[in-house]
Parts: sequence; C-alpha cells; structure tokens
Amino acid sequence: MKKQSTAIHTPYVRPDAYGSLAVPIYNNVAFEFQDAAEMADAFCNRIKAPDYARVENPTVTNLEQRVKALTGAEHVTAFNSGMAAISNTLLAVAEQGKNIVSSHHLFGNTLSLLTTTLKRYGVEARLRDLINLDAVSEAIDENTCAVFLEVITNPQMEVADLKAIADIAHEKRVPVIADSTVIPFTETNLKSLGVDIEVVSSTKYLSGGGTSLGGLVIDYGTFPDINNRVKYELLFNLGAYMTPQAAYMQTLGLETLDVRYQRQAANALWVAQKLDRVVKVNYVGLPDNPYYALAQKQFGTTAGAMLTIDLESKEACYRFLNRLQMVHRATNLFDSRTLAIHPASTIFGNFSEEQLNNMDVRQTTIRLSIGLEAKEDILADILQALGRIDN
Ligand SMILES: *Cc1c(COP(=O)(O)O)cnc(C)c1O
Repeated sequence: MKKQSTAIHTPYVRPDAYGSLAVPIYNNVAFEFQDAAEMADAFCNRIKAPDYARVENPTVTNLEQRVKALTGAEHVTAFNSGMAAISNTLLAVAEQGKNIVSSHHLFGNTLSLLTTTLKRYGVEARLRDLINLDAVSEAIDENTCAVFLEVITNPQMEVADLKAIADIAHEKRVPVIADSTVIPFTETNLKSLGVDIEVVSSTKYLSGGGTSLGGLVIDYGTFPDINNRVKYELLFNLGAYMTPQAAYMQTLGLETLDVRYQRQAANALWVAQKLDRVVKVNYVGLPDNPYYALAQKQFGTTAGAMLTIDLESKEACYRFLNRLQMVHRATNLFDSRTLAIHPASTIFGNFSEEQLNNMDVRQTTIRLSIGLEAKEDILADILQALGRIDN
C-alpha cells in the first residue's frame, strides 16, 4: 500500500466490538483480564495487552501503529507534547558526566532543556556549528551520548548534512537524534540518511489544524537500549503518555496529512516565490537558497510550510504584524490558518541580545507558517501588510 492508504488503513490490534470505522476513543484507565495468569503475562510483557492507561491505551496504540507502518520504524511511542517526546528521549540517552552534541540553532525550549534542565543533572550540552563537520567530529568524545539536531532549524532555516553527521557519529557509536517536526515523516526517509531516532512535535502537521498537543518518538531500532528506557522506564516513571483524545484527533489528522501537507507546501513555495521579489525571503524550497540542493536530497521535492522574511527593523516587523488582516498573529506551525510571529520578541523573548546573536535569531525576522487558505489571499494580506499592493 502507498502511504496515503497506509495512513488510513492500518488495522487495529484488536477489532472494535461494534466494527467502528473511525478509531474509538478508549477514555478509560483500567483493563480487565480473564484470570490471574493473563494479568501477570500482560504486566510482564509476555503478551501484548494494555494494563494501565498511563503507559498503554488502544486509541494511542493505533496511532503509534500507523506511524510505525508509515515510517518502517521498530518502535513508535506517543507522548503528550513534542517537548515530552524530546525530553524523554534525551533522558533515555543521558547520564551524569555525559554530553550531548548539538547546535545553538534549536527550538527555544529544547535549547533550555539542554542548557538548563539537563545541565542541572550533570549533562553537558556541546553546542557547535553543525554545518562545520570538523567541529562536530571534534566535539564527540567517549562521553558523548547523542548528537541532537533539527532537520531545518527554526527560525534560521539551516540544514545540516544528516548523512555526513551520522557517519561521524556512528564511527564513534553515538546515536543521531533528529527533530523532524518541520517536514512530515511521510515525506522523508531519514533512516536511510543514518538518523537513529526521530522526535516529532505532532502538535504541528499531524494534529490537523492545531487541535491537540502531542509528540512522537520514532525509533529505528539501531540503538535498542534507548527504546527500552523510553518505553519501559521513562513512560512509566515520568508519565507523559499521549491522551486518547489527542490520539483520536491526531489519527484524524494523519488520515488527511498528505492532502493538507501537499497543499500547504505548494502554497508556501508559491508565496515564497512571489515574496522573493519584494522582501528578503528565507525558504529552503527556493533554488537560490544555500540549502536548496541538500534539502531536496534529504527531504524530497517539498520544503515544508515554514518560511521567514526579513524587514528593515524590529519596528517594521511589528508594523507588519499589526497590519495583518487575515493572517493571524499566533505561534504554532502548520495550522490550517496562516500564522505570523516575531520570534526574537516572543519565542526567544527571554534570551539576552548576546544569546540571540549566538542563535542567529534576528530582530528583523518574521516567521510565517503558511496555511490552507487560497494562496492568493495569503499573498494579498502579506503584501498589503508590507505596504505593497503590487506583486
Ligand atoms: C513546536 C516544536 C517543538 C515542541 O513541541 P510541543 O508539541 O509544543 O511541545 C519542538 N521542536 C520543534 C521544531 C517545534 O516546532
């Protein structure tokens, strides 16, 4: 089956008693067993049966199964946010005295997780320029427990060479963990590029219109100990499993992901091409972007629905935001609606100027997440807010 069919037709582990076509929401906590022996088998994982909804729920399991079928992963675990997926994965690899090699170009809370939270537990974040492969190689030593990166960084839109980084990391037996939120996992084959684990904020593309929070750990099985810790230690001890309500909405989102994504990516490319004539646009789908060729090679012909524009000043960015009429001033990515935000004063608003400089987060940048509206309406609103009516 092709991915569009798999997204819809992955079977349930057990058929629903009433033959419900849409996945039922199992809004319960406990599950009953035939006898004591079956109960013991379920608790000790000798048989596959849910026993307690903090760690397993049939609605969530079905979403995990669909993502597994779509990606070819060995294990998929669903969490209640992207940050939960990221933090549980990093807690599974890290220990006191170990280090994680990563970049300054990270989602703000991921950066804070590495440099504040994990630091407090004795884990060092080695933040390097991941475009510089020598710097990556030098940063990895016998205490490195992971290389962590984002496939297209936000808002810098930087693309690292995954295969080259994975080769360096694997030579030293270090797993590569990639946050692939900005390109759907249905579009890519990051396993073939050497990525060992993908972490995804399913809040974004999957939830289908900003309906629910969620995160996925997509584990290709190359470092089996990590999955054992994620699924059999941290899921139990930290309790951040996805809720059945979120899994239901994200399963509906997954069923329509392909049509939504193709439309949003096409809208983003068209808007980027048009805007490129009037402002500075950063979108890896434009042939003159420095990462264009690498992005095409790694992620296929689409380049996501996130782009940035640079205006002359912070004031110009605020003026632009305040003039928008259809496009919303909001933070989220890949909502059905087009969204605009000034990252430096919001998502990164608590970082100092020096930190912002290190991260290459500029006061002149607006981030746009292009939605499902008619592309002409999106462009028209952006142009009028820029004070430009010609295109
Ligand atoms: C949104 C986002 C996250 C965090 O996801 P939540 O679901 O909001 O916790 C992590 N990484 C990237 C790249 C994101 O865009």
